[in-house]
Amino acid sequence: MKYLLRSAILLFGLFVSTLSLAAKEFPLTEPVGGEPFGHSVTTLGEGVYVFRWWVYRNIFIVTDEGVIVTDPMNPKAAKLLQSEIRKITDKPVKYVVYSHNHHDHISGGIIFKEEGAKFVGHENVLKELADHPSPVTPLPDITYKDQYTVELGGRKLELKYFGANHGESLVVMRLPKENALFIVDIVTPRRVAFRMMPDFWPDEWIRSLKEIEATDFDYVISGHGPNTEPAIDTANVVKDQRVYLEDLMAAVKGAMDAGVHSPDKLKASVKLPKYKGWRYYDEWLPMNIERIWAFYHMGW
Ligand SMILES: [Zn+2]
Repeated sequence: MKYLLRSAILLFGLFVSTLSLAAKEFPLTEPVGGEPFGHSVTTLGEGVYVFRWWVYRNIFIVTDEGVIVTDPMNPKAAKLLQSEIRKITDKPVKYVVYSHNHHDHISGGIIFKEEGAKFVGHENVLKELADHPSPVTPLPDITYKDQYTVELGGRKLELKYFGANHGESLVVMRLPKENALFIVDIVTPRRVAFRMMPDFWPDEWIRSLKEIEATDFDYVISGHGPNTEPAIDTANVVKDQRVYLEDLMAAVKGAMDAGVHSPDKLKASVKLPKYKGWRYYDEWLPMNIERIWAFYHMGW
């Protein structure tokens, strides 16, 4: 009996530590800073909405047959999103569409799985999530290689893969009726690139943006922006983002060609005054410069 009890306690201990280990892998609560910025829902047109939580955004589409949701972000945001959808319709969420594999955009979808939603992601999302699983992030049920169209209640959401750029699974989404793109992470209007550009490949990023520019669209909804930024922009923001990256790379390469090889000296001397008005110019430009130095220095 004593032995059994001890085994049971041991087993229970094992169970608890497994649980806390799983919980430690990825944060299950909102990232620090989520609270003060709140969330909002903007109606874009017939059944199309932009949901913003902190500086993250997704789009969702309400049809007579159910709802298409994109990037659920994290458990807290997903819960808020679910309650906002409930204010609009009592139809269930039928599809959750992932933009790419990063956990800060696609966690928390488990609550929609419980509603019976099918999850859609690029085949590399499945690979990445299988390697880095999270208990709150269901694996895609539907995967694809180059493109896929989600159809529900007479609505279409077109998904297109442009190759590696930010990771190797990012897709651009298109609302054909509105001729609008939903672009996550690779286009953020009027802001310099994110910090050290984590998981961004600068040359592939520029190539992808050129390819996107050549497609048919009038508007862009970006996956990031605080509540002070518009929910939707005109098509030119894709080009603006590409030109910023080209200017950044040219400035860093120019300084390196002129003999400056220390990343610290580059960060102190390279300036891009044309972008002084963009968000985080002072804070993040030096980090952008170091990332481009690494690209030219290491070929990476
Ligand atoms: Zn990302």
